Amino acid sequence: MSVQTIQKPRLGLPDLKDKVALITGAGSGIGQAAAEMLAQQGMKVCLVDLKDDRLEQTKQDIVAAGGQAITVDVDVSDPDRVAQAFEQTVKTWGRLDVVFANAGINGVLAPIEDMKPEDWDRTLSVNLKGTFLCVKQAIPHMKENGGSIIITSSINGSRAFSGFGMTAYSTSKAGQVAFAKMAALELARYKIRVNAICPGSIKTNIGENTKPTPELEKIKIPVKYPQGSQPLEHAPGQPEQVANLVAFLASEASSHITGTEMFIDGAESLL
Ligand code: NAD
Repeated sequence: MSVQTIQKPRLGLPDLKDKVALITGAGSGIGQAAAEMLAQQGMKVCLVDLKDDRLEQTKQDIVAAGGQAITVDVDVSDPDRVAQAFEQTVKTWGRLDVVFANAGINGVLAPIEDMKPEDWDRTLSVNLKGTFLCVKQAIPHMKENGGSIIITSSINGSRAFSGFGMTAYSTSKAGQVAFAKMAALELARYKIRVNAICPGSIKTNIGENTKPTPELEKIKIPVKYPQGSQPLEHAPGQPEQVANLVAFLASEASSHITGTEMFIDGAESLL
């Protein structure tokens, strides 16, 4: 099946209708595709991202397609702003059923000996602390009725280790998987499911938040397979393909799945 034929599938997951989701990184790439997909399934969506025109554009696109959306500009590493986004969501719609903790950056890529501690901290703060803050703030709003939390990790840090200079990124992504499993066990008593998704290379705007340094050349090891290509489709995946997985994990169709990491990479990480 070609990428084109599966770009905008209609999943038809009726239990999502009129439920409420909060999505971080919703202004671009995977978060944007997931927000559109969940809205298409009838969910009301709170779109969280840095202050950016793309965030408002995503909202406009969802509303134009007949969906319901609000936006809150938040840096996910800021505890107060994250708390406010959750409060605003529940104030607007009275409930919270699904959280897609997805915002993330590649950050500065550098050899370990050249990596500045502040660059390491920034990547860990956005990717890992941001995930913790979102799950923390979700719990009081979800513990009564249960729900589904989906965390965007990566193949980096779990199956792939050849992203040279990405030690901070891969560490944050590995941390997210461990965190998802700890949270799944801890929150099972509230019927809150927590899963991590691990995409391979997906065609998004993450390059804007990727900062390679010249020192990287020192540590590269040649890799044989064309980088970014995948055995299944000979191209990066599409955000809409990841959005399908998010909608599945958000819905009751995945009601017995928790504490699991799911790879979605066209077999890229098996090479
Ligand atoms: P993207 O850059 O297209 O989208 C990420 C969004 O997150 C952007 O809108 C950005 O503004 C937002 N964001 C960044 N820092 C933020 C912060 N501090 N607070 C709030 N929002 C912030 O990239 P994407 O590829 O869609 O990335 C989404 C997630 O997918 C990330 O966690 C990334 O690590 C993960 N991922 C991406 C790929 C890939 O190949 N694109 C592969 C594996 C995992």
